[in-house]
Formats: sequence, structure tokens, C-alpha cells
Amino acid sequence: MTNNFEVDVLASGSKGNSTLIRAGNTAILIDAGISCRRIMKGLQSCGLEPQDLSGILITHEHTDHVMGLAVLCKNIPHVPIFANEKTWGRLAVRRSLSNEQRRVFPRGCVLGNIRVESFKVPHDAADTVGYKLFYKNDKCTYLTDCGYITKECEQAVEGSNTLILEANHDETLLRNGPYPKSLQERIAGHWGHLSNATAGKFLTELANRPEEVILAHLSEQNNTEAIAFNTVHEILANANEAKNIRIYVAHQRQLVSNRE
Ligand SMILES: [Zn+2]
Ligand SMILES: [Zn+2]
Repeated sequence: MTNNFEVDVLASGSKGNSTLIRAGNTAILIDAGISCRRIMKGLQSCGLEPQDLSGILITHEHTDHVMGLAVLCKNIPHVPIFANEKTWGRLAVRRSLSNEQRRVFPRGCVLGNIRVESFKVPHDAADTVGYKLFYKNDKCTYLTDCGYITKECEQAVEGSNTLILEANHDETLLRNGPYPKSLQERIAGHWGHLSNATAGKFLTELANRPEEVILAHLSEQNNTEAIAFNTVHEILANANEAKNIRIYVAHQRQLVSNRE
């Protein structure tokens, strides 16, 4: 059974993130962490022009989420960009934007036919959020750059049809990899990133599990697509849930969609 949300991850990983989400003739972009040129190309390959977007939602100010934003904004002056107050405070591009374009995200709003709500995510940025998108009876949730699963994150994800979920690293690869201890601790800590195993375990603990999950924000250094997929698949299989949840793995350089 497929739901109404069409997700196209233009790019995902520690080197840049941007995801197109569509439902009911409305298109929303979450984050602009790759070059404007790549975002335009990605949108075009989905049959869209950037000015067709109803809005761009920013999760937080880290470069891998906003790298292409300044140039993109210039090209699409009529598309509103949403971030919360603290995140805008860290984005230099705010100074060159009109009030029409620079929007402070209230906790919920309606863009085209999609209702959007944000929720807090523990991460080492000013005020990181994830987003819940609703269209008719369907729900799509975006959760990456998450140090650990809080009650609020869990509640946000419950009952999603489609879930974009961080699976940043394999815990053993991170521990044995080349990163200095301090960086390893940052990544694995409460203000860092979710591991494959934590993502898998989280899925099994949900009361209302998603139909499909797109594993996202993989580390190039401490993860591979195969390891992320296999780790999460095995945890689901052990909980007898593997057949109930389709697993996709987002890619740093290739578009991945939930309709393949
Ligand atoms: Zn981040
Ligand atoms: Zn990130």
C-alpha cells in the first residue's frame, strides 16, 4: 500500500542534505545543504522548477543543511524560507532576504495542501528541529541530526506512513575509525547523531510503525549503505517486523525516491 507522500532525497549524508517532499500538488524542500546548481538539477529531474516550491524548511544551521541556501534564495525570491528564530540568528543570509522570503517558522503552518509542524531535536546547533508533514490521512516525518530519541521525537514519529530517519554511523566503525576520540564522542553523544542500531531499535519500539523508512544522513567515513540497510533490517527481522516496513537508503550523490 502506498501513501500520498512522494519523497525524493536529492542528497543525504554528512556532506550535504536536501529532500523534496510532495503531496496533493504541493512541493516542499527540506534543507538546502548542496549547491544551488545541484538542487535545481535534482528538482528538474523530478519535473519541477524551483519556483514551484511552496516553501523551504530549514532544520538547523550546519553547513551540510544550508550550503546552497544563499544562492538558491536569489534565484527564487518568491519562495518563502522557514527556520526558527535561533536558527535564523546563525544564518548570515538572513540579512539579504526580504521579509516576504525570510519567515520565522511558527510551530505549525499550512503550505499549499500540506500541513507542517516542527518538533525539537537534540543536536549541537542553535535550535534543531525535525518536521511532520500531513496530507489527508497521511503523515511523513523528517528526523535527522538527532543525538538521541527524546519523548518528543518519539511522539512526532508515531503513526507516520513515511519516515526519513537518520542512520548516521555503525557504532563499531566509528569506534575503530580514524576520527579523534573527541569527535567520536561528539558524534555518538547526546548532541550528535543516531547510529544504525539506535535507528533500528527505535523502529521496533514504536507503537504505530511506518510503512516505509528512508535511512538518511549516512556518514561517508563510518557507514556504508549496505551496513546501514543490513543492521536495520536485521533488527526488524528479529522483531518480526522486516516484512512490514520497506527500507530505502538515501545517498550522498544520487537521488533516491520512495517509489522505486
Ligand atoms: Zn547538524
Ligand atoms: Zn547534518
